[in-house]
Amino acid sequence: MNDRLDRLAAQLEGRELDAVILPAPEQLSNVQVRYLTGFSGSSSYLLATRERAWLLTDFRYIEVAAANASGYDVVRHDRDYVATLARLVGEAGVNRIGFEDTVVPVAMLEAWRKAMPGATFGAVGDLMQQLRLVKDAAEIAAIRRAAALADQALLELLPTIRDRREIDFAIALEHRMRELGLDGPGFSTIVASGERGSLPHGRPTEKVVRDGDMVTVDFGGTSDGYRSDETVTFGVGQVAPKLREIFDIVHTAQAAGVAAVRPGIRASEVDRVCRRIIDDAGYGSAFGHGTGHGVGLDVHERPSAAKEPEPGKDDLLAPGMTITVEPGIYLPGVGGARIEDTLVVTEDGCERLTTVPKDWRTV
Ligand code: ZN
Ligand code: ZN
Repeated sequence: MNDRLDRLAAQLEGRELDAVILPAPEQLSNVQVRYLTGFSGSSSYLLATRERAWLLTDFRYIEVAAANASGYDVVRHDRDYVATLARLVGEAGVNRIGFEDTVVPVAMLEAWRKAMPGATFGAVGDLMQQLRLVKDAAEIAAIRRAAALADQALLELLPTIRDRREIDFAIALEHRMRELGLDGPGFSTIVASGERGSLPHGRPTEKVVRDGDMVTVDFGGTSDGYRSDETVTFGVGQVAPKLREIFDIVHTAQAAGVAAVRPGIRASEVDRVCRRIIDDAGYGSAFGHGTGHGVGLDVHERPSAAKEPEPGKDDLLAPGMTITVEPGIYLPGVGGARIEDTLVVTEDGCERLTTVPKDWRTV
């Protein structure tokens, strides 16, 4: 077993479970299996007991899975993977099996129950997200590289945005990220210009970016599976005073949020710091989303800096956790501003992994 499988095993022990099944077939995310094994193929299942682990995959991936395996056995399954899973569960003699109820589809769980009538299945919530909360040095290095190359791409292309369609700018940015050596973008790039800036997740359109527009670009890269997430807002030439006003408020709020990030505070405290500034400026109702989220193998993961956190999910920040700070103000018919950095919590504060300066700029 490797370190990460060992930590998983400790969790099973604490929950009085003998094993856990983590499914990653085509229709589900493979990040849990990737995190534990390094295997990044598009279809696999992981069975882990407290002592051993098996990675089940099909013909296409057997060779690569076996070549990279460390601390677990690779088993080939045919069309009916459940039969193979049931056989291994029987051989391992395990009865109490955990599953992530936040991930496993109902039909899949039913199939497991049918094939393993002697086993009981216990929900473990988002156990893997909890295991992934604190990043190690290699994970932070991957996020830092994703950010550095995405930032390079953005800074190269920013001077070309005027009179270009939003969609063409987004395509050029994502293309440049790949040229620079990233796996690809971390997520679909958002470009929202002019009045479209009021759409927090404005998909790039055929709208041409014009003089006088304020523009929001939300972008990131992927390196070795790890994402970066960053948002810049800027002017194309001279923008209306109202737009500049909301930019300045968001800028102040974002800087205060970044300054607040340190070990020992709740993630929701970061939201509170940013929200207070935007509320006090009179735009509280125009900031309708949470302030931030963790970033790693997924672009959105724990911790969550929300206004009203889900019960049990208001994580205490600790060194090695990542978190974004991304307040915004969105005014329908006028425009919008959002500023975002991805940070890593350090021993005494935080460090920015995304590096594009966030002060007001015009192109
Ligand atoms: Zn973002
Ligand atoms: Zn984000």
